[in-house]
Amino acid sequence: MIIDCHGHYTTSPRQHEAWRGEQIAAHSEGRAAPPRPTVTDDEIRASIENGQLKVQQERGTDLTIFSPRAAGMGHHLGDATTSEAWATACNELIYRVCALFPRNFVGVCMLPQSAGVSPRNCIAELERCVQQYGFVGCNLNPDPSGGFWKDPPLGDRYWYPLYEKMVELDVPAMVHVSAACNPAFHTTGSHYLNGDTAAFMQCLTSDLFKNFPTLKFIIPHGGGAVPYHWGRFRGLAQDMKLPPLSELLLNNVFFDTCVYHLPGQELLTKVIPLDNILFASEMIGAVRGIDPETGHHYDDTKRYIEQLPLSAGDKAKLYESNSRRVYGRLSGQIAKQFG
Ligand SMILES: [Zn+2]
Repeated sequence: MIIDCHGHYTTSPRQHEAWRGEQIAAHSEGRAAPPRPTVTDDEIRASIENGQLKVQQERGTDLTIFSPRAAGMGHHLGDATTSEAWATACNELIYRVCALFPRNFVGVCMLPQSAGVSPRNCIAELERCVQQYGFVGCNLNPDPSGGFWKDPPLGDRYWYPLYEKMVELDVPAMVHVSAACNPAFHTTGSHYLNGDTAAFMQCLTSDLFKNFPTLKFIIPHGGGAVPYHWGRFRGLAQDMKLPPLSELLLNNVFFDTCVYHLPGQELLTKVIPLDNILFASEMIGAVRGIDPETGHHYDDTKRYIEQLPLSAGDKAKLYESNSRRVYGRLSGQIAKQFG
């Protein structure tokens, strides 16, 4: 089985995202949000059959770990109440996709984070999504302020209540920022990759995994700048008298393969142990075009993996068994959804 651990519902029916605009407008004018729009099963089916499912079939992948549109999370907008209503709506749609296409999608939730609000307020939604919807993880935004980094770093005790619940439920988090509202940062070109790199360094300089030895983070987009600068991170850890990165972080931190060219994939798989790499494409996502140098979509990451000098066993780790290990509930959920 080829499991793509990183997909977002970027093709959701139009009225869903339109409602978010109305909700935020109402909030800023001090009015109550309008009722949520109706989304029919047929509309969801069409959005998936002409979108992610079609791409899965074209590229020969089997299952996508699916979550709400990341840039749409918008934790910097509104307040804790609007974030909660929006997260609930987005997660419910993901659940409906998984129910309609149980062999193709397993759910991951977004959290109702809000800049400056304790992540304690995310626990109820996480619990609901895992226990009622069968979701296997969450997306955790390390910067709910959208590019201003106003909240404490991920190693801070501020985040611990959420980590305690994640450990209890055996669900990992993909550390994933949302849209940047700071004009200095392009959302997917800089803010995403900055977020990945910053999150790794926050983990490196904290006691996080000493205190939560079974907590698991997936750092997406190939780990941002991390694999490329692995020597710098090793050297920094050494200067700080910390243990080697393999001991310090690699039981807890994993990277996905959302890297959109072959040399990047070669570097990733050469530098990072294969046990720590999870196959992913983030289709249909940030980069939708075709690379004129190859004639294939940039985000068709399976094509790069196929060109790497990996044994069948290593490929199986990357495509399937690493995801099953990191997402502790995944195998159980697959068994359930596959009937
Ligand atoms: Zn993403």
